[in-house]
Amino acid sequence: MSNKKRNLIERLNSGPVICAEGFLFEIEKRGYMASGEFVPMVSLEHPEALENLHRDFQHAGSDIVQAFTYNGHREKMKVIGKEELLEPLNRAALKIAKKVATNPLGIEQNLMAGNISNSNIWKQGDKKSQLEVERMFREMVGWACEEGADILIGETFYYAEEAYAALKVMKETGLTSVITIAPYGENIMRDGISIIDTCKNLEQMGGDVVGMNCHRGPDTMMPYLKEIRKALKCHVAALPITYRTTEEHPTFFNLPDNNGCTSHSPHETTFPTALDPMQCNRYEIGKFAKEAFDIGINYIGVCCGATPMLIREVAEAVGLKVPASRYRENMENHYMFGKNKRIPKHIKDYRGKA
Ligand SMILES: [Zn+2]
Repeated sequence: MSNKKRNLIERLNSGPVICAEGFLFEIEKRGYMASGEFVPMVSLEHPEALENLHRDFQHAGSDIVQAFTYNGHREKMKVIGKEELLEPLNRAALKIAKKVATNPLGIEQNLMAGNISNSNIWKQGDKKSQLEVERMFREMVGWACEEGADILIGETFYYAEEAYAALKVMKETGLTSVITIAPYGENIMRDGISIIDTCKNLEQMGGDVVGMNCHRGPDTMMPYLKEIRKALKCHVAALPITYRTTEEHPTFFNLPDNNGCTSHSPHETTFPTALDPMQCNRYEIGKFAKEAFDIGINYIGVCCGATPMLIREVAEAVGLKVPASRYRENMENHYMFGKNKRIPKHIKDYRGKA
């Protein structure tokens, strides 16, 4: 292991930087979290499972190890009646991320990121709720600094002013700050500020990397990314979900299942437990990543729906070779669809009927 470690901006100035998000969905799928409730107790209850997921993303090419503290804020802990576990949960998640980031697979250490996000209590024009949110941000950012975060990520904000508040708190630490917004289906922030103006303001306020994450799939995020890239001088971030959102349904919250579903989810929506048939394939995710990179976006990743396979696809789409590239697809040797000359002709010839 080398001690050499470039900071985020140095890395972004010299090429693409990959960031895996989407821990909530993937940990839930792996059986360590209740869907809907979505509290990241995994850092305390199954730390090995969280460490494994970080390692899998690292193996797939994630340069950033983002501490899994999404939803691990005071308000959520109050909802489940476990406020006393707030600080232990945060510190455990940060320590696991730090451990993985300082044990890279290549020669350069990864960057460990502290994380804050949408509080879901922010209310426009209500000073009391806003101050409470700021306090929640400040305590989490404080723990992140104490546990050795290299950068801070504020993400999934759907109120512009909540994103501003998050950035203000992050900037107080002096750490490099990534801030990404996640507007809902009305295509505007909930406090009425446009997506582009919100990003411009975040840049003005000193956001080092500004962009979008979550809620939107490649097709409904890319049009805004193009505008953001044109409007901003700083580095831009792009981390879509991995579902086929449409102009009619720009986010994953109200996506209909139009793929012949025969047993619907017991609640009103396909979100979050019945989205599987709308999943983008790896080529769609790769195409998105390449397009983002080609228009000048260097901070690229995947949010909800991310798997190590998709992170590798993103990395390879922007020209990187990662440890998991060793296992990229090799149809050449498939027993029926391969071209390898050892594969018998009568097997190859049957492919159309398989
Ligand atoms: Zn997400």
